[in-house]
Amino acid sequence: MTALVIGGAGYVGSHVVHALLDRGEPVVVVDDLSSGHRETVPAAAHFVQADMADSVRMARVCAEHAVDAALCFAGKIEVGESVKDPRRHWRTNVGGTVALLEGLLDARVPHFVFSSTAAVYGTPEVVPIPDDATERPTNPYGATKLAVERMLGAYADAYPLAYTALRYFNAAGADPARGLGERHDPETHLIPNAIRAALGLRGPLEVFGDDWPTPDGTCVRDYVHVSDLADAHVLALAALRRGECPRAMNLGSTAGSSVNEVIGTVEHLSGKVVPRRYVARRPGDPAVLVAASARATTALGWQPSRSTLDRIVGDALAWHANPLAR
Ligand code: UDP
Repeated sequence: MTALVIGGAGYVGSHVVHALLDRGEPVVVVDDLSSGHRETVPAAAHFVQADMADSVRMARVCAEHAVDAALCFAGKIEVGESVKDPRRHWRTNVGGTVALLEGLLDARVPHFVFSSTAAVYGTPEVVPIPDDATERPTNPYGATKLAVERMLGAYADAYPLAYTALRYFNAAGADPARGLGERHDPETHLIPNAIRAALGLRGPLEVFGDDWPTPDGTCVRDYVHVSDLADAHVLALAALRRGECPRAMNLGSTAGSSVNEVIGTVEHLSGKVVPRRYVARRPGDPAVLVAASARATTALGWQPSRSTLDRIVGDALAWHANPLAR
């Protein structure tokens, strides 16, 4: 049994690769290095630089390494970019994953774990958002992830494929002891941007709106520690192999934090001011996204034990001390 990790040199993927290797799982990483970092892939994993849309190559890699499970992290993730330039999101997230599945089905890979997102829900009717809430994405990013979930549902009904879509809320934090952290270029996410502003590594943080219908007027998100996300993938893979994994699950901490609370935590833990300016709302952002992760708790026994704002920001700050983070 070998796990194929597509996008394994990226932020969440790299943490999952380490978690799988910790449990003695043979791992093959596929990454085109368009945004991933080769040096995060440990020597214990076999590395293949390839595009997931190369179906023939994907099928061959699966056959060569006796892959029985694939986990896909590869894709475009920026909400703002998805609104301004949606074709890249549709091409990579939908087109790329459709082609990847061609290779996996041809190679008869029976298990698939898909990185999905809270953005499939859009503006929620109920908060915290339950696992069975209606999906109504408000931006192309969420729409592409939902499209793939729908495709996977049809495939699993028709073919010998069991899958789960893990709907991440806001992946954050780092594993500084292993040199793993969040490193996007350009960086668009709140926590690394707030830290970089505090450390003088960028100009002032832009806060996207202070007129939202929330207690302090800034958006509320559910930040979940990336190492907790990694645990959930390991548990989901085991449940798929046992034949008892739900098709979709929320992964969040059930705690909401506003942008101003995140900034306050960065200032408190770093001892530095976060220079900032309040600017217009970012198109595509909902006001509040907080998860109820009942299904992951019940079906997987998952506990997001590291997902406090202090731990997340503390680990992210420690990672930013690493020269690689610069
Ligand atoms: N945000 C912000 N300034 C930034 C980056 C993000 O004000 O430089 C806000 C963003 O509008 C959202 C929250 O922080 O309300 C989290 O955004 P992020 O891009 O980190 O994650 P997303 O919720 O889009 O997945």
